[in-house]
Amino acid sequence: MPLRHSRKAQTLLLLLLLALLLSGFTATALVSYYTSRDNIRHSIVNTELPLTSDNIYSEIQKDLVRPVVISSMMARDTFVRDWVMSGEQDPAQMTRYLREVQEHYGAFTSFFISEKTHTYYQAKGVLKQVSPSEPRDVWYFRVREMQEPYEINVDVDMANQDRLTFFINYKVFDYAGNFIGATGVGLTVDAVVKLIDDYQQRYERSVYFVDSSGRIALTGASGGPLGARAGQALGSVAGLEALLAKLPQPQSGHYDYQEHGRGHFLNVRFIPELDWYLFVDKHEEGALAGIRHTLYLNLLICALISAMVLFLVYLAMRRYQRHIATLATTDVLTGLPNRRGFNLLAGQALNEAQRSQSPLCALLIDLDHFKELNDSYGHLAGDEVLRGFAQTLQGNLRQSDIICRWGGEEFILLLKDTDSATARLLAEKLREQSAASSIPFNGVNLQVSTSIGLTELHGEDSLDRLIARADRALYRAKQSGRNRVCEETFEPPA
Ligand code: GH3
Ligand code: MG
Ligand code: MG
Repeated sequence: MPLRHSRKAQTLLLLLLLALLLSGFTATALVSYYTSRDNIRHSIVNTELPLTSDNIYSEIQKDLVRPVVISSMMARDTFVRDWVMSGEQDPAQMTRYLREVQEHYGAFTSFFISEKTHTYYQAKGVLKQVSPSEPRDVWYFRVREMQEPYEINVDVDMANQDRLTFFINYKVFDYAGNFIGATGVGLTVDAVVKLIDDYQQRYERSVYFVDSSGRIALTGASGGPLGARAGQALGSVAGLEALLAKLPQPQSGHYDYQEHGRGHFLNVRFIPELDWYLFVDKHEEGALAGIRHTLYLNLLICALISAMVLFLVYLAMRRYQRHIATLATTDVLTGLPNRRGFNLLAGQALNEAQRSQSPLCALLIDLDHFKELNDSYGHLAGDEVLRGFAQTLQGNLRQSDIICRWGGEEFILLLKDTDSATARLLAEKLREQSAASSIPFNGVNLQVSTSIGLTELHGEDSLDRLIARADRALYRAKQSGRNRVCEETFEPPA
């Protein structure tokens, strides 16, 4: 195959191999990535988020529902009702009662507001009179009018330096069902926020509460989704459009949505005690970062392995090709270049000599009566003689000389920068050496003489013409008795 075609075929093979390796490796890496991703998503939706929601709900029951229960007990307390109905005689009694509740249950504050006198009692004493015209007292008049038995309200605590407090405001009725006031306990919102922050850090997800109208009711210290604050409607938070399209009003369930191109999973759960919805949200990014990192690492390893495999295959192919090229241009018996090898080198040598006008001589050498030697001692003996003669030739040559087993028992030499006189000297030397040396084979010493045709390159000689002249010289050497060197000089056509 011509060299150019074989290069093309090699490149094609390497490209094919590259494509196979890369597509195989990439497909494997991607399949494992997508499988892991599906598993992670499945586990987030079906296990992680519901579990978090359960955990948080049970903590809420512990931390928020308890004050509701305490407040409900206070509202049903006969002492409270009897004391109010008997005319709120001794405020110290009520104060003591409130202090007891506060200390015993570890509440942040406790209070009672009388409907009849509008007096605000708390653990430290009488705080003030509530008035419908005072904006800070509006809550009481709202509680008085509401249908539900209680509300949970985040407000400032006037009894505690206006700290933001989570109040449970319970309506109190007398035995006939008449509204006689409001009572309850409060936790600082700080404590609840800390609770949410704790959930968020512990479970690495976003936790917040939304009321039934879709307003964010309570968030951690760093805010709700996308930094939204309590009081803000979910609908007004930019980036949650995809979520709101699926969940226009809070409703329990699982949702997934996109926010600025990031996938989110959301679990919504109704907390009946608070009349709020608990939102537990996890974005995919964090959960998938690990396996994405693994994917990139896998792809990198694939690329490296592909490159290494290709490089090794390339090296092997190059070695193999060189080996084939050597085989194709070398004679197996003598290790000398064969005719193909000779042609590759000879054309170049001729050009060089013609360009630089330096002399070049050709010697065509034929072993004498070789057939007889074969016939007498066997083919293997003949082979041994051929090998031996090849060694003699090589021993007499310079690096620059070109040598070839021309065929059978014929050899050819091209001597660069050598005129015919010098070439004749070398030819004689070769002839003498081969005639004088003997090659041992199976106990016999084999001898063979050589006939040599010599000619010098002339002007625009082609290789064929040069060899044809050397052949004529050889023919003359044979004709004139063998074991001799004959020279044929260039004769211009008549
Ligand atoms: P001449 O002096 O005229 O050259 O006579 P010759 O016998 O050498 O010439 P001829 O062309 O009649 O015979 C050449 C022989 O060389 C015939 C062939 O069998 C033998 N020969 C050619 N190649 C090989 C080879 O690789 N090994 C051996 N052992 N013999 C070979
Ligand atoms: Mg011959
Ligand atoms: Mg011969």
